[in-house]
Amino acid sequence: MTNSLHSPFERVVVDSDSHIKTTACRGKPLTNGWCAEHQAAQTLLDVGAQLGYPRIQVTRYRAIGAGRGCWHAYARCAPTRWLQDDLPFIRQNFLAGERGRVMRYVQTPDGLGSLIGNRQEQQLLSCMSEGMQEKLRYKIGVVILNDGMERFYSPRMLSDAPPEVIEAYEQSHEAYI
Ligand SMILES: [Zn+2]
Repeated sequence: MTNSLHSPFERVVVDSDSHIKTTACRGKPLTNGWCAEHQAAQTLLDVGAQLGYPRIQVTRYRAIGAGRGCWHAYARCAPTRWLQDDLPFIRQNFLAGERGRVMRYVQTPDGLGSLIGNRQEQQLLSCMSEGMQEKLRYKIGVVILNDGMERFYSPRMLSDAPPEVIEAYEQSHEAYI
């Protein structure tokens, strides 16, 4: 289980004799057990749980093994910059597929995102007009591609992403290893 003194993240270091070792992250753990820097690890584990912890080849050189243990081992040592690419990749290719949804890009105030179809119902005030309630009723979950985190927006804050923006993102994503 989670150690209460530090987040479960392990940094890989190479010592002066060129030995590869891991050291515990010194970050202060938040309520989920991970430090602020390594919170995306928890997001990864949540996604893994939703999918049933399958084996996923995230890049040509990296894979997450099948089973909860492998996902936890990966989350403990995956640098934040890996997860920034892994999370959108996994969500697009596995989570979306799992639920039979097609990936769709949208522009948000926080940059390009992908719709994953989650919705949050809003608490509405009964004194609001019906039109106003309709407008505010739902917020839509969007995974922001920059950091792989899901945020919720009201529909009027979203617009279709221009094709050139999507193309640029997909090209830069493919180029990344
Ligand atoms: Zn940490």
